[in-house]
Order: sequence, then structure tokens, then C-alpha cells
Amino acid sequence: MVPVRDKDTMADFVDGSCKTRGWCAPTFTLDGMHCPFCKNSDTKVVDTRVGEDGYSIRRRRECPKCSRRFTTVETATLMVIKRSGNVEPFNRDKVITGVRKACQGRPIKEEDLKQLGQRVEEDLRARGLAQVPSDEVGRAILGPLRDLDEVAYMRFASVYQEFNNLEDFERAIKELREQESSAKSEAKARNETKA
Ligand SMILES: [Zn+2]
Repeated sequence: MVPVRDKDTMADFVDGSCKTRGWCAPTFTLDGMHCPFCKNSDTKVVDTRVGEDGYSIRRRRECPKCSRRFTTVETATLMVIKRSGNVEPFNRDKVITGVRKACQGRPIKEEDLKQLGQRVEEDLRARGLAQVPSDEVGRAILGPLRDLDEVAYMRFASVYQEFNNLEDFERAIKELREQESSAKSEAKARNETKA
């Protein structure tokens, strides 16, 4: 990965979130990082902590020249191996865009989609792999999307799993019903133990 040293890009990482890219994985050279306020080439780390997700390091930095503080986030870049064999950084926005199409006309909020994107990324990162095949990304979407909206799930699954005929839909609906009833009986069992 090429170190990100572009000044404008640096500014995007202030407050620890990347606004220009869906993925937040700046593997820039931390030594010699420029202050995003005054561009001074020297900054001092005043605090380092592991991010809430456990997969990132947040560093609070201070510029010795202008004394302003900012945060940098360091995460391992999660790469996706595409069917073509090309490898590209995981992009949460791409996941959301793909899912949004399946959600048209459904009562799904932007916030729900954001959360879904986060769940997918967390799921993939939790596997501890540097690279995941794009098929795995699609599969990681299915669970959270099923929880969110069954219609959107069916639409997404039909494209992702390449449904060809009514039997494919019937099978998927049957699976959905089975999962639903097992979830219900689990909940029922939980309630009975409580009572
Ligand atoms: Zn400065």
C-alpha cells in the first residue's frame, strides 16, 4: 500500500473518520506525519488507545508548532479479492450501495444501512484475514439483511445467489421460514427458562 501523504487526504482523517473513502484504513507513515492545521511536518503522540471495535489504534496527536490536537486511526487494510482476481480495499459504501438497490420501496432507513455496513465489516474483520474473497462479502451481507427486511433479503439473495427459477425462490423462502420458526422456538425456550 502506498503511504498516504497527500495533505488534503490527511485532513480527512482528523477526528478519526475518513470522509472521502468508505473504508477507513490509512496506512500512512506515522513518523513524519504533517499537522492537518498548519502542515508542520512534526507531530507528537499524546495518547494511544485501541479503538472500540478492537481492530484499530487511535492516536491523539499534538502539533508542537500550533499546539492543536487531532486524532489518527490506524487499521489493517482489509482487501477483497474480486472474481476477476483483482484485489481492492474493502469498501463499506460499496456494500451499502449494493444493498440499497435491494431495499427500494422498503421501510429501511439510511441509518439501518450504515449499521448493516458496519456489521458486515466487523464480521469480515473478526475473521482476522488480510484478504477475503468477494463471495464472502456477499455472504456476510445475507445475515444482517435478513434481520433487517425479508423482502430486501430475498431480492439481494436472488441476485447474489443467482436464482434461476421459482424452485430457487421456494427453497430460499423455506429456509427463511425454518430460520424464523427456530428463532421463535429459541426465544420461547428462553422465556420459559426465565419463568
Ligand atoms: Zn500545527
